[in-house]
Amino acid sequence: MSEQKQAEESWSPDTEVVSMYNFRGNSKEDLPFRRGEVLTIVRSTKDPMWYFARLPNGKTGMIPSNYVQKRGEVKLHAMPWFHGKMDRKEAEVKLSPTEEGLFLVRESMNFPGDYTLCICSGGKVEHYHIIYSHNKLTIDEEVFFENLSQLVEYYKKDADGLCTSLKKPLEKKGKLEYSVDQSIFKKQGWIISQKHIELGELLGGGHFANVYKARYTSCNTVVAAKVLRDNNKASHLFLAEASVMTSLRHPNLVSLIGLVTEGDTLQIITEFMAKGSLVEYLRSRGRSVIMKEDQIKFASDTARGMAFLESKSVVHRDLAARNVLINDDDVAKVSDFGLARHTSANQDGGHLPIKWTAPEALRKSDFTNKSDVWSFGILLWEIYTFGRVPYPKIPLADVVSRIEDGYRMDKPDVCPDDIYDLMLRIWNLKPEKRPSFKAISDQLNKMKETRTTTRV
Ligand code: ADP
Ligand code: MG
Repeated sequence: MSEQKQAEESWSPDTEVVSMYNFRGNSKEDLPFRRGEVLTIVRSTKDPMWYFARLPNGKTGMIPSNYVQKRGEVKLHAMPWFHGKMDRKEAEVKLSPTEEGLFLVRESMNFPGDYTLCICSGGKVEHYHIIYSHNKLTIDEEVFFENLSQLVEYYKKDADGLCTSLKKPLEKKGKLEYSVDQSIFKKQGWIISQKHIELGELLGGGHFANVYKARYTSCNTVVAAKVLRDNNKASHLFLAEASVMTSLRHPNLVSLIGLVTEGDTLQIITEFMAKGSLVEYLRSRGRSVIMKEDQIKFASDTARGMAFLESKSVVHRDLAARNVLINDDDVAKVSDFGLARHTSANQDGGHLPIKWTAPEALRKSDFTNKSDVWSFGILLWEIYTFGRVPYPKIPLADVVSRIEDGYRMDKPDVCPDDIYDLMLRIWNLKPEKRPSFKAISDQLNKMKETRTTTRV
């Protein structure tokens, strides 16, 4: 505990801090807490060592600042030398003319999920298999790394058995990949001990992970735990998802509570969204239960979350009703911004959600906030059809060409004219002609205020 360091920086209201020790409190004014709890600063006090703070259960009181640390953002490292899927031949072409120590890293074609380090030396290209096992990377099964950036840094300093040390990266053109360092989560206060998370019922399954309802015992709160499947090679995507979440905090974005990383276990702990995904909500309740005002509220909540992402220049890439979650108070929040910066899963895995993705993103990989706006138009259509699958009668393979020929989905049975008009303005082939999320959010907010409670 460094008293001086803590006293130097002062925390503004709403700063989140996480406790490093148990605090029992000495007086009635004190707020006792246990290690690992997240507290929100309410205000500073005359004494720089003490703050008035709040626990998630609403209790407030005085806390000693040297028992807690501020939670910080976890930044991703760019990997300019990472070229994604590429075979041996292509790598050799890219690396010619050879230059001693020129290198790149590619995804292995022979060993899916593993990587290959290609280095020029003595006029040839050497290919080293990077094995991925137990959440670690290794070439020689002697030295292990948490991610590709660490591996590259290591072999830059020393050849350590390779033909040469890494001297010059062959930089990839276009969109870069990122890696993230697990230890930074720890340093920034995001790591939760596994014994504090009790898994409960299975809520759903995604591409890499299962989601469970869970109890965060030291805070006595219900949370959602996204658990990476055993020894999964997607852990870097998983960590990237968590790192994006550390910096994006907004009432309409599902918020990160922490991360469990112990041994092979990797879990993302987020706030619990009791009513599940918006698409399930719409389908299970239908038009007999869902009111016009609910629909406009879900649309407006989602647009507000997206306007925040837009203000941070973060592109979601997978906005759809299945990726919007509803909490106990019927607040809609955007989730799954993990692929925000990570494209390879999308591009290579064939998971691109064709019916939600803007034509320019499908054709030219041109993902922008405006391509997210297109997806939001589809999401609006989902809301007003109570969760139908878009383009009901059109085969998937024909969707893009039909859209380019001018086809647009019809107005849903019960949909206000101004909402359908918004959908049509959104589905403009020219991205720059589409409204921004800020404009959409303002418009929906106005509509929300003028609508009265009526059954659809
Ligand atoms: P993926 O994007 O990989 O498909 P998701 O994160 O969307 O995985 O999770 C799958 C399902 O788990 C969701 O459709 C939803 O039903 C449930 N789920 C995910 N996160 C939460 C949460 N925070 N609270 C409640 N349920 C959740
Ligand atoms: Mg999802």
